[in-house]
Amino acid sequence: MKLQPTASHFIDGAYVEDKAGAPIQVIYPATGEIMATVHAATPDLIEKAIVAGKRAQKEWAKLTGTERGRVLRRAADIIRDRNHELSVLETYDTGKPLQETLVADATSGADALEYFGGLAGSLTGEHIPMGEDWVYTVREPLGLCVGIGAWNYPTQIACWKAAPALACGNAMIFKPSETTPLCALKVAEILIEAGAPAGLFNVLQGMGEVGGALVTDPRVDKVSLTGSVPTGKKVYAAAAADMKHVTMELGGKSPLIIFDDADIESAVSGAINANFYSSGQVCSNGTRVFVQKGIKEAFLARLAERLKGAVMGDPQDEKVNFGPMVSERQMDIVLGYIEKGKAEGARIVSGGNQVECAGFFIEPTVFADVQDDMIIAQEEIFGPVMAVLDFEEEADVIARANDTEFGLAAGVFTRDLSRGHRVVGALEAGSCFINSYNDAPVEAPFGGVKASGVGRENSKEAIQHYSQVKSVYVRMGDCEAAF
Ligand code: NDP
Repeated sequence: MKLQPTASHFIDGAYVEDKAGAPIQVIYPATGEIMATVHAATPDLIEKAIVAGKRAQKEWAKLTGTERGRVLRRAADIIRDRNHELSVLETYDTGKPLQETLVADATSGADALEYFGGLAGSLTGEHIPMGEDWVYTVREPLGLCVGIGAWNYPTQIACWKAAPALACGNAMIFKPSETTPLCALKVAEILIEAGAPAGLFNVLQGMGEVGGALVTDPRVDKVSLTGSVPTGKKVYAAAAADMKHVTMELGGKSPLIIFDDADIESAVSGAINANFYSSGQVCSNGTRVFVQKGIKEAFLARLAERLKGAVMGDPQDEKVNFGPMVSERQMDIVLGYIEKGKAEGARIVSGGNQVECAGFFIEPTVFADVQDDMIIAQEEIFGPVMAVLDFEEEADVIARANDTEFGLAAGVFTRDLSRGHRVVGALEAGSCFINSYNDAPVEAPFGGVKASGVGRENSKEAIQHYSQVKSVYVRMGDCEAAF
């Protein structure tokens, strides 16, 4: 098979296989072809990874931050050197166009390793004067962290979790989604090549049970999940049993509000980025597009025109800019939502069909005249389906935008910058955009409010979620007591 990795898992610095674990087929979403088979981790391998991670973490934490950072920065350089090869793999794993993966996946992972590598040497505590006495604080690692990934950004998710975790002196066991198991193995390989000690970053394949076994193990100190809200609720509850630290990066149904003073061309670009990048399989997508009535028809006409520029085909061809769904299952889920949208009476402006081929392609689809209570306006679809809703008043659209359990992202297009800031200030979302959508630089915090998540990835904020503070009171004189 074309992409068969050396073995399914990466434990204690080496590839490890145990075919006793359930087989997991890796399917190229553009053709349905089986590219590799890996096996779910057995209890024995889970045990080996935990023991290796615990051991490696203790040694790693003894290094200076600068020494740890050097390893991460070297890993970033290696990833950049191999960007093309890693992007080709990411495209096979996910079906996302090479045109995208060349600039958004391994490169984003390298950014995270470089950024947190740079921060590692500056992770210090503070000195708090208390008269003659004083307190000092020490920023300490949490210990062994578990990262669990979704299938849409397998390289990026592995790096976004590993980079801050390792910078703070933790070790990690990463479980990729069973749908995209290949890319994280490369991250593990590269970290070793960059000088990380064996056992510091381990990859275990498997379905939910492997994740479940890791989350409930008392030797694990932190769990960081990227996944859906229902999985997040289960994992959060399981982690709470041992009072483990958590980061939850979950789903959304984010609003994108386009006022009638917006530049239409720019707003259409924003709506395309917010719905059709990675064929709509992006958690922060702005899938409820509220368009002010004055520009509604002009917006829809221009959008339909621009969508003719979507080029489908083999995602390994750099001219292709729109790929398939990650799996047949995901394609069926999304087609089911398109049928619901039609049945609920929303108007198809563009697309709406599966593409006749062996792969899992769906046309970029736009529904207009969507009402707030329609299923396609309420549930996360995770595919190329945009719901366009009308609005007239600012206060009304803010209330409707916030009327959801989710709170991951939100965007506003307007030429009136005071309004842009005012509206964003009122929106219940963790990551907001003004006259843009879906930018996720490592320097900026990323994460959701409400059911969309707990904690933040990227930026200095992530340090808080992979370390804890010890405070030490130092008495300079004698210690006194009441009796
Ligand atoms: P899932 O929630 O189905 O799965 C996420 C991961 O959790 C997978 O690796 C899965 O394993 C694992 N898992 C499932 N059940 C358990 C369990 N009980 N204990 C431990 N681990 C478990 O999400 P998808 O993979 O379908 O990804 C899509 C979702 O991810 C969307 O809702 C999307 O919004 C969200 N997402 C959020 C992002 C964010 O940063 N906020 C970014 C990207 C996606 P397996 O699937 O192998 O069984």
